[in-house]
Amino acid sequence: MSHAPAATGPSASSPHTHWEYLLPILSVHLLACIALVPWCFSWSGMSLAILGTVVFGTLGINLCYHRVLSHRSLKLAKRVEHSLATIALCSLEDTPARWVANHRLHHAHSDAPLDPHSPRDGISWSHAGWLFRRAPDRRTYAFFDRYAHDILSDDYYRWLERHPMAILWIYSIHAAAFMTVGFVIGATTAGSWQAGVQLAVSWLVWGVFLRTVLVWHITWSVNSLTHLFGYRNYATGEDSRNNWLVGLLAMGEGWHNNHHHDPSSASVQHRWWEIDATYYMILFLERIGWATQVIRPRHLRHPATARQTVLHP
Ligand SMILES: [Zn+2]
Ligand SMILES: [Zn+2]
Repeated sequence: MSHAPAATGPSASSPHTHWEYLLPILSVHLLACIALVPWCFSWSGMSLAILGTVVFGTLGINLCYHRVLSHRSLKLAKRVEHSLATIALCSLEDTPARWVANHRLHHAHSDAPLDPHSPRDGISWSHAGWLFRRAPDRRTYAFFDRYAHDILSDDYYRWLERHPMAILWIYSIHAAAFMTVGFVIGATTAGSWQAGVQLAVSWLVWGVFLRTVLVWHITWSVNSLTHLFGYRNYATGEDSRNNWLVGLLAMGEGWHNNHHHDPSSASVQHRWWEIDATYYMILFLERIGWATQVIRPRHLRHPATARQTVLHP
């Protein structure tokens, strides 16, 4: 399988454009721009946008899609895993099998021709462009089965794969829930239905649309920026880097060179200041008994050999 570099890729009107992804992503970006209208602003809406990046991005995408499902760095109780996967679906980042298959392909061929989103094909390609280009061989059940067979052996994830529109239903239901709760709180605290409508719209625009856009760009920055900018602790054979800005915004995922060095570890914190907030949440889940078999970093598992590829000890 191969894809054309972004620099020589098709234009937006090309028959190779993957409209099924381009249109929803463009639409949600446009809807998020409504946040610029002062009438839509509320402090609670802004708080939901920020808190939502933690709930839907960190818990859903980082912890569940990435560390649990893609790398099996820990085990969660099944009902917890399915709940977090459903939360991840509300970030509109594909079904579990598709996300996992593409991510495992990235690790298997990082910055090589088969990498689905290497910045060697252009920064815009690695950030989001790769999503908008048709890649029929990466969207077949056979591809998902090859790279995410374990995911498809789960009844819930296999059902999602057979009913791909479910992701839009789940997203719509969670958006409706934000609006409903916003309306009830706005109407009861201010005593008017107009205030209820205003808070409902604010929560929808800030807490759903803008938050979705923020989580997208945080995830996409891991694919783009952390293969371009930052320092390397390890000679990993590709371009992965530790980027403090992405590390901060993506709650640990920006320590990407550490991750490529030791992808099975539940933690990407290899130095005291490389803060991995996602791992702290994993430790909390382990403490309350919801997470087990948490894989520690290689330098703790195999201290004698772990530093062999270190660039800057
Ligand atoms: Zn990478
Ligand atoms: Zn990974």
